[in-house]
Amino acid sequence: KKKIAVMTSGGDSQGMCAAVRAVVRAGIFYECDVFACFEGYSGLVKGGNLLRKLGWEDVRGWTSLGGTLIGTARCMEFKERSGRLSAAYNMVTNGIDALIVCGGDGSLTGADLFRSEWPSLLEELYEQQKLAKFQIEKYKTLKIVGLVGSIDNDMACTDATIGAYSSLERICEMVDYIDATAESHSRAFVVEVMGRHCGWLGLMAGIATGADAIFIPERPPEVGKWKDDLKTVCKRHREKGRRKTVVIVSEGAIDRELNAITSDAVKDVLVEMGLDTRTTILGHVQRGGTAVAFDRMLATLQGVDAVKAVLEMTPDTPSPMIGILESKIVRQPLVRAVELTKSVATAIANKDFDKAISLRDSTFLE
Ligand code: ATP
Repeated sequence: KKKIAVMTSGGDSQGMCAAVRAVVRAGIFYECDVFACFEGYSGLVKGGNLLRKLGWEDVRGWTSLGGTLIGTARCMEFKERSGRLSAAYNMVTNGIDALIVCGGDGSLTGADLFRSEWPSLLEELYEQQKLAKFQIEKYKTLKIVGLVGSIDNDMACTDATIGAYSSLERICEMVDYIDATAESHSRAFVVEVMGRHCGWLGLMAGIATGADAIFIPERPPEVGKWKDDLKTVCKRHREKGRRKTVVIVSEGAIDRELNAITSDAVKDVLVEMGLDTRTTILGHVQRGGTAVAFDRMLATLQGVDAVKAVLEMTPDTPSPMIGILESKIVRQPLVRAVELTKSVATAIANKDFDKAISLRDSTFLE
């Protein structure tokens, strides 16, 4: 029987449980054994009870849940070859040669590295007399499939990552709450949302709640001038009869010289305008709550396709990342998606903001 391991890694997101459920059940449907690798890569590195088979019933009711019930972690050991050696050992001794990783670009980079090193890791384990010759022959290829679990919607080659729409929904609910009190007292609010390199949450939340202004990393305003522009916009809105002012700031917001635009700095500008201003940093509630219908659907369809991709892969197939483009579940080369994602951060660091936007595949940013 083919054995597949599934893990969640990096920051948690709503819909990760639904993805694990889909992998487990699709795996069982296609007559595979599915192992959960608990606590991200730590489960592979440590093995034992952290790497165990899940049955159909084990994932009952997981579709709607937030977070990840198989745990996630930042595993430093896996970044070292010694950690990856013990991960390879634990996989082979459990008879597993396929891994479905649900995480962000870091997690998928680690997965790709693991695959590229696979034969040499096994040979080293053979030299150390930890594995037998027949095991090296039997498990000589490793299959890796990536699912993108991230609230930030920061991965290239896919329109949506698992969790992004749930997080957006949470932010919008919170801004709606804030709106009511802001309007009552005629106050201004600065709302800080997650997104260190990616402004998708901030931009979409701003559009969906009708914010006065939005600050995101990919569209930085001119140094200093943004303060006057912000005042002009907010003043105009007030003059038209708006009783509240709401400004959304991504945690990674910057100006064109890469200086951070913090929620405090934005607050100072609003205070200078004479507005009674409060700041709300939404923080981890953005990861909370149940998954919205879209994420449940996305995680389920992608989880099923991840299992199919494992079963259809040949040793020459580049590792796929399951994405969604124009409403179709698609397989994309994982390495290219990760490289493109990283090149956005590089473009921003080089102040090439037009390039950053074009790399995002997101026409709405233009
Ligand atoms: P998020 O988008 O939420 O930050 P992520 O998957 O990018 O998610 P990381 O913390 O970058 O989160 O990576 C998660 C884990 O993946 C790391 O703790 C490590 O175990 C593994 N990993 C990341 N990068 C590498 C790498 N270059 N080599 C090996 N393993 C890696």
